[in-house]
Amino acid sequence: AQPNPRAGAAVKAADRAHVFHSWSAQELIDPLAVAGAEGSYFWDYEGRRYLDFTSGLVFTNLGYQHPKVVAAIQEQAATLTTFAPAFAVEARSEAARLIAERTPGDLDKIFFTNGGTEAVEHAVRMARVHTGRQKVLSAYRSYHGATAASIHLTGDPRRWANDTGAAGVVHFWAPFLYRSPFHAENERQECERALQHLEDTLVFEGPATIAAIVLESVPGTAGIMVPPPGYLAGVRALCDRYGIVLVLDEVMAGFGRTGRWFAADLFGVTPDLMTFAKGVNSGYVPLGGVAISGAIAETFARRPYPGGLTYSGHPLACAAAVATIHVMEEEGVVEHAARLGEEVFGPGLRELAERHPSVGEVRGTGVFWALELVRDRETREPLVPYNATGEDNAPMAAFAAAAKERGLWPFVNMNRTHVVPPCTITEAEAKEGLAALDEALSVADRHTTA
Ligand code: PLP
Repeated sequence: AQPNPRAGAAVKAADRAHVFHSWSAQELIDPLAVAGAEGSYFWDYEGRRYLDFTSGLVFTNLGYQHPKVVAAIQEQAATLTTFAPAFAVEARSEAARLIAERTPGDLDKIFFTNGGTEAVEHAVRMARVHTGRQKVLSAYRSYHGATAASIHLTGDPRRWANDTGAAGVVHFWAPFLYRSPFHAENERQECERALQHLEDTLVFEGPATIAAIVLESVPGTAGIMVPPPGYLAGVRALCDRYGIVLVLDEVMAGFGRTGRWFAADLFGVTPDLMTFAKGVNSGYVPLGGVAISGAIAETFARRPYPGGLTYSGHPLACAAAVATIHVMEEEGVVEHAARLGEEVFGPGLRELAERHPSVGEVRGTGVFWALELVRDRETREPLVPYNATGEDNAPMAAFAAAAKERGLWPFVNMNRTHVVPPCTITEAEAKEGLAALDEALSVADRHTTA
């Protein structure tokens, strides 16, 4: 595309005058005006092109503008753009069938929402009505969404300003060996102690008061901590023992990101409810949902479910999901993501860690990786403090700016950069991104004590 700085300036001016942005101090942000995007790249009006290592907010699993998904949206718009949720509509029926066929175990009924937050809200509501209990447990170092129950469940600083203390949410520590809350020395210890801590928490909260445990199968925003073998199975067993609903939140980890259809598949665990969004249709049209087990579906077989949404199962969003799932099958996207993790990102990122003192740990799977950046590898002091703002955050800002100068758009959260490109990124593009990351990490290295 031809550069067009004047058009870009107009887009930016209208944004600054009228758009109120998420999570931001409105005068302290400087959003890039985006002119277009295709595949793994997007570009601005100045003619600068960026390789997208963020997949937006980790949702464009098929990259931008996949022609088959775009065509399916156009076709659906031409035939039946919208229809109310109480009717049976082809795109909705088909999306539900394709999703239910891929979710684990007996998660065979799908309630559609407009995104991940609503999926979590509804999963919690289903668990509360199903059990007749109120309390919900979730992990510190988690993100589950931005509205009432979901922001309370969130175990990161975004909860603090929203915490009314009235949501009936209790937090526990999930396993994270690199910063072990249990002072464990290996994965086996971390797993055992994390499960013991969770059981102690259940017992002291009163198991008969707890409706659900809500857990990301692989925590995403909080740092891509793949749980140790046995942890999710252990949580499943505790839920069974105490009659608690297990909700696995696969909003970020689902639909190919981990090199499996769902991250739960890595561990052979079936939850009672599973939330999804983002990758279900590559984020082309807002869509999320809850996959529901037979037992919970039965609760609402002859008694109304007390919840709903005007746009539940919106035909445009569902048509995009149907096309996305077909493309994922036809193009072997899940297998490609797994191979990239094993052959390109895993080895490539570990090699960077060997040379850059700022990299404390590399962890992940598929196209779902985190680099933990530190001042000092021995003490593991984070490169910037937890929830740093302003000046405190300068080293991460310098790292991000260096990546962008080299044509790489990085995902940055606190002291981490996540490598979360589209699942369809080619090996050559992945290597181009790793080379830019290599140079940007040299900037982070300047802020270490090494
Ligand atoms: N759950 C998880 C695990 C997420 O990663 C997110 C978003 O990043 C959400 C829920 C909230 O989803 P949404 O922003 O689509 O409402």
